Amino acid sequence: MKRIAVLGSTGSIGTSALKVIGKHPECFSIAALSGYSNVRLLSRQARSFRPKLVCSGKDNAGLRRICYDRNVDHVLIAISGSAALEPLLWAIDAGKEVSLANKESLVMAGPVVMARAAAKGVKIIPIDSEQSAIWQCMHNEQPRGLRRIYLTASGGPFRGMTGRELQKISLADALRHPRWKMGRKITIDSATLMNKGFEVIEAIHLFGLSPEQVEVLVHPESIVHSMVEFIDGSVIAQLSVTDMRIPIQYALSYPRRLNSSLPSVDFVKTGALNFESPDTDTFPCLALALGAARTGGTMPAVLNAANDVAVEAFCQRRISFTGIPDMIERVMRKHRVKKQAGLDDIWRADAWARKEAVQTLGKVK
Ligand code: NAD
Ligand code: MG
Repeated sequence: MKRIAVLGSTGSIGTSALKVIGKHPECFSIAALSGYSNVRLLSRQARSFRPKLVCSGKDNAGLRRICYDRNVDHVLIAISGSAALEPLLWAIDAGKEVSLANKESLVMAGPVVMARAAAKGVKIIPIDSEQSAIWQCMHNEQPRGLRRIYLTASGGPFRGMTGRELQKISLADALRHPRWKMGRKITIDSATLMNKGFEVIEAIHLFGLSPEQVEVLVHPESIVHSMVEFIDGSVIAQLSVTDMRIPIQYALSYPRRLNSSLPSVDFVKTGALNFESPDTDTFPCLALALGAARTGGTMPAVLNAANDVAVEAFCQRRISFTGIPDMIERVMRKHRVKKQAGLDDIWRADAWARKEAVQTLGKVK
């Protein structure tokens, strides 16, 4: 029996994780839950799963306590944004098995997180569907045998649009994702393609790759969740219906597989699977993220922080959809990068970029 703490249990990933756990009471139990603002849902979850520990609000002492609790075997991190970084590091320091949905933490501090996990012998099992796909394709393969990975992207709701059309995108348009139902921030990130840029950085750290080894492919059907190419030219792909319960369940059951009642892929009904190159001229967020990945140091933390402010400003209708990459680029241009960045440098860069981003508000349309 694996005793699991679900941090961020009231979100999109968190509620899906509880569904998976509830279906396999013989394998998993809930030791702890945490939620930020939806206290009503959190208490309903607590009544149903009866965990020993529940933490609500911005209670860092509570989250830390959960990560170190000896009745917790596995910490699933489904908190959104930069608030996940500290709990992730606590879970690693406590030597717990970790499954990670949050990507902002790895974007901000990938080298720090991976070095700590290696020092502690902690496995970080990915939940993000593309990273889970790569993880599954690499099973039992030698890292040296890998040539490149193909990260697939649905292309978001605005695939094929021109820059001019994008200027008129409303918040409601951006919140309508064609394939996945997710939290608000990641839905906007998917529409700008920043989400894919974050995933490139995430993959670089999770799998020890160089930026040149990661190729993004737009795949509108979202059936192939990513692929790995080996040095002999073989390519292995992972395919499934688009439902986050599949990667969540695998992260919890790894290296075993458990039954699921989700439907199989209907290949005949799906028909052709299409792949194309992403349009980074029209969707500059992807190019900005690739640039930050190549620069490294504190730059990815600046990218993440500026994006946070920009997405929030777009949600408050203070800037346009195309203002999001504009704001991020202005902040990145001004940043003096620190290459060998420790945790303090990263938090300092994060705070600097948030302040700088707010100051661009009058200049960005
Ligand atoms: P969400 O907004 O639906 O849920 C976020 C969760 O985090 C909630 O439980 C909320 O209470 C908690 N939270 C928010 N701010 C917090 C804070 N300051 N302190 C403590 N807890 C806080 O988000 P989501 O869609 O479930 O995504 C969660 C993470 O997983 C994100 O980093 C996202 O990028 C990643 N992810 C999500 C999906 C998806 O399908 N939703 C897929 C891949 C990766
Ligand atoms: Mg993803």
